[in-house]
Amino acid sequence: MASRQKDYYWQDSDPLWYKDAIIYELHIRAFYDSNGDGIGDFKGLTEKLGYLQDLGVTTIWLLPFYPSPLKDDGYDIAEYTSIHPNYGTMRDFKNFIREANRYGLRVITELVLNHTSDQHPWFKRSRRSISDNKWRDFYVWSDTPDKYKDARIIFKDFESSNWNWDHVVKAYYWHRFYSHQPDLNFDNPLVRQTMFDVLNFWLETGVSGLRLDAVPYLYEREGTNCENLPETHAFLKELRNHIDENFSSRMLLAEANQWAEDAVAYFGNNDECHMSYHFPLMPRMFMAIRREDRFPIVDILEQTPEIPEECQWALFLRNHDELTLEMVTDEERDYMYRVYAHDIQARINLGIRRRLAPLLSNDRRKIELMNGLLLSLPGTPIIYYGDEIGMGDNFYLGDRNSVRTPMQWNSDRNAGFSFANPQQLYLPVNIAPEYHYETINVEVQQNNTDSLLWWMKRLISLRKRFKALSRGTLEILFPENRKIFAFIRRYQNEAVLVLANLSHLIQHTSINLSSFNGMVPVEVAGRVEFPRITESPYFFTLGPYAFYWFSLETKEVERFALQPADTAFATITMTGEWRNLFKRETRAVLSATLIDYIRPRRWFGGKSRSIRAYNINDTIAINYDTHTSYIVFIDVEYTEGEAETYQLPISYASGDSMNELISQWPQAVIAYVKNNSDIGIIYDAASDSEFCMYLMRAVANRKHFKS
Ligand code: BGC
Ligand code: CA
Repeated sequence: MASRQKDYYWQDSDPLWYKDAIIYELHIRAFYDSNGDGIGDFKGLTEKLGYLQDLGVTTIWLLPFYPSPLKDDGYDIAEYTSIHPNYGTMRDFKNFIREANRYGLRVITELVLNHTSDQHPWFKRSRRSISDNKWRDFYVWSDTPDKYKDARIIFKDFESSNWNWDHVVKAYYWHRFYSHQPDLNFDNPLVRQTMFDVLNFWLETGVSGLRLDAVPYLYEREGTNCENLPETHAFLKELRNHIDENFSSRMLLAEANQWAEDAVAYFGNNDECHMSYHFPLMPRMFMAIRREDRFPIVDILEQTPEIPEECQWALFLRNHDELTLEMVTDEERDYMYRVYAHDIQARINLGIRRRLAPLLSNDRRKIELMNGLLLSLPGTPIIYYGDEIGMGDNFYLGDRNSVRTPMQWNSDRNAGFSFANPQQLYLPVNIAPEYHYETINVEVQQNNTDSLLWWMKRLISLRKRFKALSRGTLEILFPENRKIFAFIRRYQNEAVLVLANLSHLIQHTSINLSSFNGMVPVEVAGRVEFPRITESPYFFTLGPYAFYWFSLETKEVERFALQPADTAFATITMTGEWRNLFKRETRAVLSATLIDYIRPRRWFGGKSRSIRAYNINDTIAINYDTHTSYIVFIDVEYTEGEAETYQLPISYASGDSMNELISQWPQAVIAYVKNNSDIGIIYDAASDSEFCMYLMRAVANRKHFKS
């Protein structure tokens, strides 16, 4: 049982929460500085939780915040179980977790397994100790730099070997990243045990998930490229088992910058990590929009193996690192450099150090389209802080600091990030003319509901309404026009059609939707209903870089044998007297028909709102002349805001009076009624001025209606 599980806020929640999550990635130092020392801190982040809740994200992923010399932005850890004093104290951290939970936000932190800083006491002891000592064996030492020759060098711009000579030990130590980041020796059981302890420590503070940094590189074996080794997977299975036995509702996210075939191995049989990044997809999204061709995306998705039911890909457009081009071919990399990093300064290692907006030449339509796809493709989306407002970058800052500048809150000093002396900031704020913090900031965009920030908020909130988008299957469609990327996400009885025009020009296409014959595509943002789908190809016209979600819906009316008649009106088929319409069997079809009638009326107040549900809640019969009419009360509920009740007087006519009504008041006809061999109409009795007068008199005389 979950023995280490304490009474956390999340205890009873859905164990698959990460599938529906929307993750926001941020570095604590970059978000908000509460004490004016120029460095963001936990107190500052805690103050900004309302912003994140309002944005609609559900989970915060924190980059490393542990004691560290900060030569790799904290991925060079000098102590695993405390907080870097720049960012606050353990108490601040715990308070942050508690507050985040109160705002309904979960927190994911980093578990850097592969390496430590050379300033970590373990490494210092390892260097000092005589060989064969327990500490020496914590890291990977060798007398020659010739071992493991097949392992690639990752930080190619900075390192020329994975071995570094240590003049004290007079031996080489192994490092996959910077030379100040020695790799831990996972063949040593003590190292593995220590990492279990670190994991327990953080999960017990109440974090919901751990990102396993650089996880493919844990073990080294001669004759291999030292990545994705069976030993690594065996270790992950132990780690997962430990979590399953001791905690509930927690998640492991593998950071494996690998081809999809290798990345899926990190899910195991749902007995390793719950999530893993889809690295190769990201550069191909940029390729597709630039080439105006869906092929790069479709191709990589088709090469992506199925994953276990409980598992989920993690998707991103940009993050704190360079836009990595490791998982592309040489030609593709040349292409990406040519079109996205013309300036050599923008390149680093095997990638591009730029943010989303500058990569997309600050074109709002492209930015929307890419975010739209991020929130539509199978996986959990990760939004990198600042990209929701279209922040710029600064590639003159060295390493990957280009994309790590302070969050831009407003147009005050230091972009409202800190009240420190501007020279004291950990990195300068962005003042490039096109992305200057005076215009690109949260405050400006909160005040303009047409801003990118508001667009993102709406996109996120719509996405959360459809489980199909977070958990659904993927069916790629292949319209002839390759500039159109179209697919369907389906989950239980939800189906969402995603349409994207990758071109800067208007496009048309027809799509075979015949498997949805009879259903109605409803555009999700505006709830606009499109013509019913038939057997024939469905025609769409899409403006430049257009992006749409259509929910494919079975309109209730259909289920009750309501077919379009020869006329423009719906036909209701029933038996018995016309007043049987109000019986349970036909009530649903009647209310659907009435709502279709009400919707375009001038007096209908909910035109710009999306209707969630409607229902006839009462009817009052009125005897007038020789026949009975009814006042129908219809409750209309909307996706947002107050519900409304509409009263509609309806009546029935057949034979001559029907013909007379149709010719006199065609706009009053609501529906045809087929009753055995007879045909009649339901009409809006308010259009009958005599009847109206009667109603008004009845009200004035308080002559009450017979119900
Ligand atoms: C992180 C990088 C870091 C590297 C070494 C990567 O996975 O994303 O920022 O430099 O690991 O720890
Ligand atoms: Ca601070």
